[in-house]
Amino acid sequence: MQDWLKSLGIQEVNSGVCDGRWVEKPGGGELVSVSPIDGKPIARVLQGSEADYERVMDSALDAFGSWRMLPAPRRGLVVRDICDELRRHKEPLGRLVTLEMGKIYTEGQGEVQEMIDMGDFAVGLSRQLYGLTMHSERSRHRMYEQWHPLGVVGIISAFNFPVAVWSWNAMIAAVCGDTMIWKPSSLTPLTAVATQQIVNRVMDAHNLRGVFGLVVGRGSTVGEKMINDRRVPLVSATGSTPMGRRIGEVVGKRLGRTILELGGNNAIIVMDDADPKLALRAILFGAVGTAGQRCTTTRRIFLQKGIAEGFTKKLVDSYKTIRIGDPLDPGTVMGPLVDGDAVETMMKALDAIRAQGGEILYGGKKLDRPGHYVEPTIVKARPGMAIVKEETFAPILYLFTVDSLEEAVKLHNSVDQGLSSAIFTRNLQAAEAFLSHEGSDCGIANVNIGTSGAEIGGAFGGEKETGGGREAGSDSWKAYMRRQTCTINWSDELPLAQGVQFGE
Ligand code: NAD
Repeated sequence: MQDWLKSLGIQEVNSGVCDGRWVEKPGGGELVSVSPIDGKPIARVLQGSEADYERVMDSALDAFGSWRMLPAPRRGLVVRDICDELRRHKEPLGRLVTLEMGKIYTEGQGEVQEMIDMGDFAVGLSRQLYGLTMHSERSRHRMYEQWHPLGVVGIISAFNFPVAVWSWNAMIAAVCGDTMIWKPSSLTPLTAVATQQIVNRVMDAHNLRGVFGLVVGRGSTVGEKMINDRRVPLVSATGSTPMGRRIGEVVGKRLGRTILELGGNNAIIVMDDADPKLALRAILFGAVGTAGQRCTTTRRIFLQKGIAEGFTKKLVDSYKTIRIGDPLDPGTVMGPLVDGDAVETMMKALDAIRAQGGEILYGGKKLDRPGHYVEPTIVKARPGMAIVKEETFAPILYLFTVDSLEEAVKLHNSVDQGLSSAIFTRNLQAAEAFLSHEGSDCGIANVNIGTSGAEIGGAFGGEKETGGGREAGSDSWKAYMRRQTCTINWSDELPLAQGVQFGE
């Protein structure tokens, strides 16, 4: 075990269950974390069983009683200390994200920076959990709303942002006064263990336990247990649309709340008057970054016909220069896919593309080397290709040529997902039309910026089969609290609303 991994508290065999204290021998079976870089094991994690989940739940419920009574600004100070601890461990934690998930080094570092940014945001928020006051229609009455903590929040995260998505939820839930249980992806358990180690140190220093719980375990056991658990008023789940559909159904049936952050099928429209240099850079980062494994990855491009041919050529030429390889190497632009299944899914999608008449302009092959490396791929798409409507979680980019903005927007909105979207244009009318009610139907709509790489200050999430959830900035915090409307009568009368007279 290398020293930098040890500095994160990672050992050869790690417990994956923690309620502030690590459960020594959790009973959910062993999980080997394998690096997609070379297919070699990094370390082992002992997963949680349903009984282990119960133990963490007991602690989370117990902690809720006192954590919610700590004034929010004081909860913010605890989150501030977690931020500081994350700052101290940014380099090795980001490196572990790269080692375990495969995104390039700078993106791994960026992911931890996002956790820190989210924490800083939450610290400020801890003094701004505002409610409104309203003018009562009755004399000498005061009306206002206030926000209370919800309870134990369940956080289910995906492999591709193994720690940032936890922080989007955890930092906000914590200042809101909730306690939480995190079930990370089984592909990235070590980053979760390392994050929990960082959090534990801070919580120990504050003599607090049970606010942040962790249960590494299978979706089919621990995950199902959590979503069926009536003691969990809110499940925030990030992952594929089929997973979200299942969670939405189960939690909805018990009238619990969900925040669903699911698959995307994001597109960029490039108009004839766009700055081609900007558009090209944005498309490269959006389509090739994280090896096409971001929910906001650019998957479809609509090129206006005047620039389509020249732009396509430039795009193919740029793809030829992309350095694929070890994501820890500073010169690498594209690392591996997360595992062998992901490579197989991409190869199957390419078969479907060929069968449906798509023309592969560049890429399309698996690389013959250890690890899970593929070529980023550009496809000249035919209108009506069914595969284009699916999110294939791999670097496949579909190109379409369009006559007009109207045609581009119609095609853009014709998929079931609605996460992120962008237009490149210098024309004010085109930009505003794209952002208008008749324009993009996505949760995120950008002008002269690509689809991926959102800042934390805005509310993040998407419409349609992306699930409708919102996380991170703006007023996303409201989902983690319950709203209470209060009316106080300080008169000597009891007037009824709407002027109703009753029994007088
Ligand atoms: P996935 O759906 O395979 O798994 C996500 C998580 O759900 C994992 O922790 C998994 O164990 C858990 N899970 C699965 N079935 C469950 C069940 N029945 N009950 C409870 N938990 C269950 O997704 P993945 O492959 O890890 O991630 C990729 C997907 O995530 C893509 O579709 C991507 O677009 C999406 N994603 C969306 C966002 C967003 O904000 N919209 C962000 C990141 C990733």
